[in-house]
Amino acid sequence: MITRRALTTLRRAPLHRALSSRASAVLSALDLQSGRELPGVYDGEWGGSGEVLQSVCPTTGEVLARVNTRAEGDVSELVVIDLTLDASRLERLDVPRGESAGSRASPAELERALERSREAYKVFRNVPAPKRGEILRQIREALAAKREALGALISLEMGKIRTEGVGEVQEFVDIADYAVGLSRMMNGRVVASERPGHSILEVPNPLGVVAVLSAFNFPVAVYGWNLALSLAAGNATLWKPAPSTPLCSIAVTKIVSGVLERNGIPGAVAGLVTGGKDVGVGVVESKLVDMVSFTGSEAVGRQVGEAVQSRFGKVLLELGGNNAAVVMPDADLDMAVPSVFFGAVGTAGQRCTSTRRLYLHSSIVQAFLSRLESLYQSVRPGDPLDSATLLGPLHTRQAMDIYHNAIERLQKSGAEILTGGAAYRDLAAPLDGGNFVMPTIAIPQEVDVRDPLWSTETFAPVLCVGVFDELEQAIEWNNGVPQGLSSSLWTRDIRNVGKWIGPAGSDAGIVNVNVGTSGAEIGAAFGGNKSTGWGRESGGDAWKQYVRWSACTLNFSDAAPLAQGVQFANTA
Ligand code: NAD
Repeated sequence: MITRRALTTLRRAPLHRALSSRASAVLSALDLQSGRELPGVYDGEWGGSGEVLQSVCPTTGEVLARVNTRAEGDVSELVVIDLTLDASRLERLDVPRGESAGSRASPAELERALERSREAYKVFRNVPAPKRGEILRQIREALAAKREALGALISLEMGKIRTEGVGEVQEFVDIADYAVGLSRMMNGRVVASERPGHSILEVPNPLGVVAVLSAFNFPVAVYGWNLALSLAAGNATLWKPAPSTPLCSIAVTKIVSGVLERNGIPGAVAGLVTGGKDVGVGVVESKLVDMVSFTGSEAVGRQVGEAVQSRFGKVLLELGGNNAAVVMPDADLDMAVPSVFFGAVGTAGQRCTSTRRLYLHSSIVQAFLSRLESLYQSVRPGDPLDSATLLGPLHTRQAMDIYHNAIERLQKSGAEILTGGAAYRDLAAPLDGGNFVMPTIAIPQEVDVRDPLWSTETFAPVLCVGVFDELEQAIEWNNGVPQGLSSSLWTRDIRNVGKWIGPAGSDAGIVNVNVGTSGAEIGAAFGGNKSTGWGRESGGDAWKQYVRWSACTLNFSDAAPLAQGVQFANTA
């Protein structure tokens, strides 16, 4: 919280500094008024009167939203600070970074949002599924109309480059398309009964309230995957986004709620509660929530999984990845090298599917690494909004600490740092306020998959390289870590492919051949095994988790026989 002394200073100081034109153009294209406090709660109406609040641009350090807070212990003293300050000044003033854009949900608002979601579900479950599909079609159109602006907002607030930001919105558009079709195909089954004159139906019905807790690195698409399926299934969805990307969630919710309102559907069918851990805990523990779909780190996912399980709720976990690419001697390096480069450096290494481990066959190590290294050295950090930029910033200062700690650990262990290994210094303004680090290739002294160097996910562009002679060895290393999200084999030999995708092959949820670890399409179910959480979202059979299934046995006959021939009549 901001201190009283700091407030006095702020009142006296000339507070207003204009938001940069790059930022204000993006915000105004999405109706996010930069000069005003933004409400961060939507349950049919916009509100938000909780504490804390700010969205910081990772590229420049500039604060993107106005701050509204109150002096600690003095509820009556509501202070609205009319400012766009640089983040370092806010730090000096004790204002927390990356918390919330406008006001986040207070406990009472959270409770009300949950209740409204429940009420909205009771209305929405009776809307026929194809009509729900029609609403999804309109949401798809509304999103597509804002694709460029929303993509730019993702770049501005999260830090990924523009083409990836726009791609993320495209993913939402794609899954909305998919769910429109699904709304006419969410079929149950008729099962043959062993009893004469009987029939068994497996019936899917809407589940209830689905809470979506999402991570910072996909501030739009992850919600999209969940909302589209949940909406098609007839549920109400309540979104708790990452605390550092509230603007993306507010912009998306405005677009979606506009469509709901035009169709006379309660807005709480797609509600929003911004905030940090406390709001997340409140959502997870609420019995008003039937399913929690959680995307985030393994550590938090473990807590969420246990909390939801302990109240016998449903949980879908999409957690950290630690993904490997394996390159065989017969691989086409013209394809493999740029793909590994994108997998490891794209999104500045901040995808759950980023390539973090590279296992090279001993016969191609030199050729592969020299080509990869020159691609790394060609990379320049830049403004993600600039279409020439390939490398944006890390999302937060804390992420830079994680990067530095990983490099230090590698160095202490005697690993060779082939390229990178430090933050960029002396960047020209305004990038000098950003979180830019050099993509790094490291060669640890040995491959020991139990060593944290190999077994933990470092959410930054750090790639560790190991050398193998037999595919079986590489598969063992691939599978030896706790996580099981994505994996990729580069080969032209069908025998290697058979091993890789078969019973003794990769144990990840995504098992690619001649395709990188990163950049999945929406058609297949997406998710990981083991400590990645076993969840599946998006395509495939993922929709089946968003409904409640009933087995309904119907008796059309004039007798009531028991199954398995059991007799329960008094014959004495
Ligand atoms: P995080 O775990 O710190 O936060 C995720 C969400 O949980 C946020 O909304 C946060 O506010 C909330 N939260 C924090 N503590 C909570 C608690 N105790 N109870 C309930 N909610 C709580 O993750 P992050 O740093 O935002 O995201 C990066 C991580 O997400 C990486 O590990 C990455 O691999 C993972 N991720 C996984 C996938 C996937 O599909 N497997 C996709 C994207 C990101």
